[in-house]
Amino acid sequence: MLMNSKPKILLIYTGGTIGMLKDFETGALKAFNFNKLLHNIPELKLLDCEIDTFSFEKPIDSSNMNPKHWAEMARAIEINYSNFDGFVVLHGSDTMSYSASALSFMLENLSKPVIFTGSQLPIGDLRTDAKENLITAIQIASLQENDQPLIQEVCLYFEYKLYRGNRTTKINAEHFRAFISPNYPFLVESGVHLKINSQLFLPAKGSDTLKVHTRLDNNVTIIKMFPGISEAVLSAILNIENLKGIVLETYGAGNAPTEEWFLTLLQKAIFRGLLIVNVTQCSIGSVSMGHYETSTTMKKLGIISGKDITTEAAITKLMYLLGQNIAQEDFKSVFETSLRGEMQ
Ligand code: ASP
Repeated sequence: MLMNSKPKILLIYTGGTIGMLKDFETGALKAFNFNKLLHNIPELKLLDCEIDTFSFEKPIDSSNMNPKHWAEMARAIEINYSNFDGFVVLHGSDTMSYSASALSFMLENLSKPVIFTGSQLPIGDLRTDAKENLITAIQIASLQENDQPLIQEVCLYFEYKLYRGNRTTKINAEHFRAFISPNYPFLVESGVHLKINSQLFLPAKGSDTLKVHTRLDNNVTIIKMFPGISEAVLSAILNIENLKGIVLETYGAGNAPTEEWFLTLLQKAIFRGLLIVNVTQCSIGSVSMGHYETSTTMKKLGIISGKDITTEAAITKLMYLLGQNIAQEDFKSVFETSLRGEMQ
């Protein structure tokens, strides 16, 4: 940042409820033009920073989000990186944790804040949560220490809390407190003052320059285990043409059936080169293969441990690493290493 100048923040508008209006005919909420959104928040002019904006040409409901949109966000950050001190991404809450996770992997050596936020009610609604979320996200993105951004990672701000983005998950479609970070504490809490837990931040990146990775491989899927899953169903999924990676949501500490058909299917799939990541269906806690007999064989088969990662971070990390052409024999150890603070 220039001496004595105000921090410069780029607001990236992708869509979401925050900028939606009711369709006149159907009554359904639809994304609308960004300028109208800014018009609804005159308070932005009172903030002690300079704000510039970039909007998706067609703002979307985040249920339509896909890796092409992630690449568009990453490129917008890359192009504007040297001209801004921080970035705030306005995004629908439905898939916000996926996008924040994806961007955390795509932006290597990030040394500025990228803060995702949105709202449960449109900004024009009398009871909206959008203003607090947006204004505080911008304030946090503007925080500096010794002329350097205080936060140097991808975060998510919602309902008075700043979280590491790739640790979050959406848990509530009704309450303003829509997100949790089950396995990592919040980074900042907004009350009368901002309570900043800087000991939890990712370390400063030093002189390494930003590297933006936009190649993701979506030949992946998520399988949620349930008692009664059939051999025919599992076999059909594991044999999908070109499938390269699976996030397998197992029970408890990473446990699954010990039935022979199940383990044989996994073994054959791994033999063909399929990468299988074991994550737990539990919100809190970690996979610990070998702790129970019901995970011992999976460990022996070379299944990757997702440890305490969220499913959102696991699937986006899989897409990111598959796009990096990592050698098959190194993939397990790379995945099991925390790249952006996404796992223990
Ligand atoms: N359906 C909306 C979206 O994700 C919900 C929201 O913004 O909260 O775009």
